[in-house]
Order: sequence, then C-alpha cells, then structure tokens
Amino acid sequence: MSDTITTRRSCGGCTTCCKTLGVDALDKKEGEECRYCDTGKGCKIYASRPQICINYACDWLNGAGTEDERPDKTGIVVTRVGNRTTGGLYQIVESEPGLLASPYGKRLVNKGLALPMVVCYCEKGEPPHLIIPSGAIVHRRVLRFMMNGMPYRNEDRV
Ligand code: SF4
Ligand code: SF4
Repeated sequence: MSDTITTRRSCGGCTTCCKTLGVDALDKKEGEECRYCDTGKGCKIYASRPQICINYACDWLNGAGTEDERPDKTGIVVTRVGNRTTGGLYQIVESEPGLLASPYGKRLVNKGLALPMVVCYCEKGEPPHLIIPSGAIVHRRVLRFMMNGMPYRNEDRV
C-alpha cells in the first residue's frame, strides 16, 4: 500500500479540523470550536490565521480517500506526519463520540496499521490510544509528540 499522497484538494465548506484539533497559538483546546470558525464556511481571520493553521493539511486534503470522505461528512480527521520509511504517525480524531466505532473509523485504523505507521486514535473525551504495528519505525519526533500530548495539528509541535 502506498503512503505517498500527491493530489491536492480544497477544503470547500469543511471546517472540521477547526473544531477537532488544538491550536496552541489561540489557546484553543482539542474538541472546542475555534472562535474564528464560521462553521461550514471557513475562517473569519483567514488572511491573518496562525502559521500552524496555514501549514496544516489533513490527509483528505492531501488526496487520501474518496471525495465523499471529506472530514465534515465523516466527522473524522486524519493527520499524517512523516512516512513509513523514516517513521511517522497516522492520527485519527473523531469530532463526535462513537464515530471511530463505525466501519469507516475501523477501516482508517486498519489503513494506518497496514502502512505500517504508528496509529494514534482519539475518541472524543477519552485519552488517545496508540498502536505500534510490527515493522513500524518510531521516529524520535513521534516519541516527543507522545510526551507533549495529543491530538495535534501539525509538525510544529514535534
Ligand atoms: S479537516 Fe481537512 S478538509 Fe476539513 S478544513 Fe481541515 S484541512 Fe480542510
Ligand atoms: S484560526 Fe481559522 S483556520 Fe485556525 S483553527 Fe481558527 S478558524 Fe480554523
């Protein structure tokens, strides 16, 4: 299974990561909607949004999955950091409780494990779970990230 992503999409009406993931620069916690988020439309401070928001792209935006799997439609945001060659992380975060127990959520976990990459899946309101599959390389950035807390938004924190 390839872990190379090449297609670049557009967020369109999705603002799911603005609710699901933390942004340290705004003191925005995971699971809280950002005060600058215009739900279903975009960012109210787009031109001056923090660098961490500028840098961020979820796995779907980078071309993974089908058009119908845009995070606002599934309620699940996947963030891929690094790669399976040097070691990386496949982070799966649900926006509402129970979504990771769906067939789609389970398929994402299996996809990360099959790469193989360290999989972190985050159920809303629960501590993150980590799975390190056989053959996965654990990069020092991932170790540092695991100590810093999850879920996270981009590589600036690792
Ligand atoms: S979750 Fe992905 S598609 Fe949705 S707004 Fe964030 S980066 Fe864009
Ligand atoms: S500042 Fe904008 S892009 Fe960043 S989390 Fe808030 S709404 Fe989203």
